[in-house]
Amino acid sequence: MHDFKYVGGQLFCESVSVEGLARKFGTPLYVYSQKTLTDHFHKLDRAMAGVPHRICFAVKSNGNVSILRVLANLGGGFDIVSAGELGRVLAAGGNPANCVFAGAGKTEAEIEFALEQGVYSFNVESVPELDRIHRIAGRRKKIAPVAMRINPDVEAFTHSKITTGTHENKFGIPLEDVEAVYARAAKMKNLRLRGVQMHIGSQLTRVSPFEKAVRKVLPMVRRLAETYELEFFSIGGGLGIVYQPALASGQEEWWRLPGARDILTPQKYAASLLPLLQPLGLNILLEPGRFISGNAGVLIARVEYVKKTARKTFVIVDAAMNDLIRPAFYDAYHEIVPVRRRTGATLKADVVGGICESGDYFCKDRRIAQIREGDCLALLSAGAYGFVMASNYNARPLPAEVLVNGRKFALARRRQVVEEIWSGETIVPWLK
Ligand SMILES: *Cc1c(COP(=O)(O)O)cnc(C)c1O
Repeated sequence: MHDFKYVGGQLFCESVSVEGLARKFGTPLYVYSQKTLTDHFHKLDRAMAGVPHRICFAVKSNGNVSILRVLANLGGGFDIVSAGELGRVLAAGGNPANCVFAGAGKTEAEIEFALEQGVYSFNVESVPELDRIHRIAGRRKKIAPVAMRINPDVEAFTHSKITTGTHENKFGIPLEDVEAVYARAAKMKNLRLRGVQMHIGSQLTRVSPFEKAVRKVLPMVRRLAETYELEFFSIGGGLGIVYQPALASGQEEWWRLPGARDILTPQKYAASLLPLLQPLGLNILLEPGRFISGNAGVLIARVEYVKKTARKTFVIVDAAMNDLIRPAFYDAYHEIVPVRRRTGATLKADVVGGICESGDYFCKDRRIAQIREGDCLALLSAGAYGFVMASNYNARPLPAEVLVNGRKFALARRRQVVEEIWSGETIVPWLK
């Protein structure tokens, strides 16, 4: 699952001591394992070997240019949702011809930039967007490759903030309208109909919603592929990962935990989808983000205070919701383990940041290992939707990021200097 393990009571990322990294680079600190990234990419790649396919990593889950370079070197493409993300892919040395451009709000400037760079496909989410892409392509005397994003209206059984494939959501074109939109697009001479796409949500822990969605759209995809000579069918991302306790319970073999058998593995995913996808004869695109990056990263925080009140214990750390917002935003669970194990009774505590928001917590009333002021804690599975959602709230600098590969480690992003936070601000003339 990942390459963060205890060796002699000390947490290691691959062959590197996490405490050593915290000492060298300071905290809060994101630490990523190149091996975990690579393993997860290969697991999915191998599982899908039965169909021609391409894995397009969802840049929004972790956009660090070193992470993107790792995936580009593995032969991956990218799923981007903004011109900024396309810029990141270019900065990482990725190939725009392997990028699919999603998102319901593409601006004129973004479409122009993506067209200029030659993305593989615009995944279109509405008729006005289709019209806009066509207009811009005409103006630029180019042919824009497009695919419609189908909203199949299936329940994903995940958190409401990460459900995207029902008619309650803003995403995609309703199933019943899709064929008419293709017919309309086919008449636009500056468009090339290249494929068809869907994405039903994130952190799915069962294969049934994926299967249901694919079954539901399959007859239409087959018709569209034949009529318009499409090249690809993208089944989106959304594969869930294990967040629940493994290391903390002393149980490092997470697959032996109760419930672990229900975890969605690439094998299960492929076993249920390949028989449906194979007969299509299309290139299958996958857009996983979290599955590749989630377990590949941890956030290291140092304990500032252990504050005991009559009713509770608060472990106040130097990371906060601005560094990792998932608990506050999605009620997300992150396993929290000490970087150096101490003997002694566990304690029941809230692990919190120092921000003036009651939402600023990482866990509540949880049994955690014995720790003291000055110790480091690791928040596991923070590689996806972690740093990318970090902000400067409370004028806190963005944390540093480190990539580990075997015995090697290096900064993938230096810690933000505090003055950089307001460097774009000015005192307006009449106040000077
Ligand atoms: C967010 C997103 C993904 C990736 O989702 P994960 O759950 O991280 O795999 C893939 N495709 C689209 C269109 C997305 O918006």
